[in-house]
Amino acid sequence: MEGHLHSTVATSISIIYGCLLFVGCCIAFPKPPVDIPPVNPSDAPKLPAGVSRTVLIAGGGLASLSAALELSERGFNVTICEKDLVLGGRLHTKNIERLNQTWPVEHAFHAWFYNYHQFKDIRKRLGIDGNFREWKAVDYVFRNYLPEEIYSEGPFPLNLLGIIFRSPNLKMTNAIESSLSLPDLLYYNYDTIFEKYANISLDDWAKEKHVDEAFYSIIMRPALSVTLNERHTISAAEMLTYMQMYFLSEPQADGREVTTKNYQDAVIGPWKKVLQENGVRIETNSTVKSLYFNSSNGKVISTETKEMFDHVILATNLVGLQRIINTTQKNYSPDSKIGVSLQCLQSKVGKLPLAPRYKIFRAWFDKQPHNRPDILETPDYTPVNLIAQYHLLEEHFAMWANKTNGSVLEFHLYTWKEKDTPDDKVWEIIQPTVKMIYPEIFSENFTMLAYHVNSFEDNFPSFKINTEQFRPNVTFPNRCGIPNLSFAGDWLHTSYPSSLMERSVSTGRQAANHILLMEHVRQVPLLVTNSHGPGLL
Ligand SMILES: Cc1cc2nc3c(=O)[nH]c(=O)nc-3n(C[C@H](O)[C@H](O)[C@H](O)COP(=O)(O)OP(=O)(O)OC[C@H]3O[C@@H](n4cnc5c(N)ncnc54)[C@H](O)[C@@H]3O)c2cc1C
Repeated sequence: MEGHLHSTVATSISIIYGCLLFVGCCIAFPKPPVDIPPVNPSDAPKLPAGVSRTVLIAGGGLASLSAALELSERGFNVTICEKDLVLGGRLHTKNIERLNQTWPVEHAFHAWFYNYHQFKDIRKRLGIDGNFREWKAVDYVFRNYLPEEIYSEGPFPLNLLGIIFRSPNLKMTNAIESSLSLPDLLYYNYDTIFEKYANISLDDWAKEKHVDEAFYSIIMRPALSVTLNERHTISAAEMLTYMQMYFLSEPQADGREVTTKNYQDAVIGPWKKVLQENGVRIETNSTVKSLYFNSSNGKVISTETKEMFDHVILATNLVGLQRIINTTQKNYSPDSKIGVSLQCLQSKVGKLPLAPRYKIFRAWFDKQPHNRPDILETPDYTPVNLIAQYHLLEEHFAMWANKTNGSVLEFHLYTWKEKDTPDDKVWEIIQPTVKMIYPEIFSENFTMLAYHVNSFEDNFPSFKINTEQFRPNVTFPNRCGIPNLSFAGDWLHTSYPSSLMERSVSTGRQAANHILLMEHVRQVPLLVTNSHGPGLL
């Protein structure tokens, strides 16, 4: 009887709270993206005829390609030096021989989101919008909850309420019981978020805010599993920024797209073609090892090749940049002006950690799973974090599957513990976990016809607690006395919410803008995610 009374009271309170939340939310406003205009709008749109300026960009990932596009369109002579044999960085595609055929195999499956404003602008300019299609809903499986299909539909805040109403696991009470967390989400403020939460993990933040366990496990924790970072130590500030970018800023924020072709054909190839048409020199298999400086003005002027440049952008991944600075330090006395500048760079860059190693395992099977989503996120099944059915995603694999009735599955294996696991042991290690997610692979005796393993170490930035104070911005080298050097990449701090691929292309554009400002050429505007959450009232 007493239990019944409690539950009646709880239900009534929930309904009242729900109504209040609903009414409150109805008069909240999503925040549209913000334009960052050029700071030099009256400067010339291009370098004047007869003026030649050379730029070296180290690295050939998205940050580099973004900077190269803006600079080459404005008359700069750009050289890209990429260590790998192909362009693209973590979006690269390589040809792999399996089953007597050549397959375009990417670094890993990626998704593009609504708030990827710089990327969308680039896509349009490259004429590649047609290579993308909508990925409407995200499917999740959990160990302790029913599977969820999560998508945002309708105007704010009905889109958020809809997620709860459609959920087979969540009730309004779960959200209401998490109401202490709402101010940080709905009144998200990028300008103060790192001050408040850079040194506390998302898990601890959730405990502090008494976030309901189901609400946390289904709505919030899954985001942690795609960061490639250790979940227990990733900063709450970074993750709340993800939520603003991918969920809260606008009702469409969780809208995502995938490509219909491999990333080389869909993105990197067309981009490379435009850069080459603009005269960009692209050198692959070309590692930048160290920098050389003009000791009188502190400018970086060349690399170990001794070719001279007016400007340099370091758009390598974090570990590449750390290596370049370490090697360069050996060339200069610590007491020299350049030595002091390099120590200044190290004071931040040298202290930034890297995320754990990860593997991407792609397997060709003789049979197809049925009634399974093309992409499945598996946040509770570490090291298996995501499974993508490539025969449902890309033409090349679909053609083979149609002919053979086979399938091609990609397993994302993040925070991989063992060092030096031989490729032929990976399937054996993940099998028990895969069996829980896709039992039919085993019960229906699928035969694995071939596999390919991509293994990466020190290739992804860490966003763990207590590191934000070391995260430099694009123009940090200038503060260290190096005027013509800038950084670009997904590991940097930006003055607006950004992350992953969008942070790379945005910082690439900012690095180009730094050079444009120095050379009196009008900067390129940026469109960025709003720094403020939608609010309640
Ligand atoms: C498994 C996985 C899944 C992901 N999924 C998504 C997703 O769904 N959505 C999303 O937005 N992002 C995703 N990302 C993140 C995204 O891939 C990166 O944020 C982005 O590609 C980074 O681009 P970048 O140019 O900053 O760095 P990179 O792509 O790492 O490019 C840096 C380049 O520098 C080169 N280099 C290093 N050292 C040197 C040197 N000394 N000289 C010359 N070249 C050098 C490297 O070879 C590399 O090509 C994912 C990443 C991974 C690993």
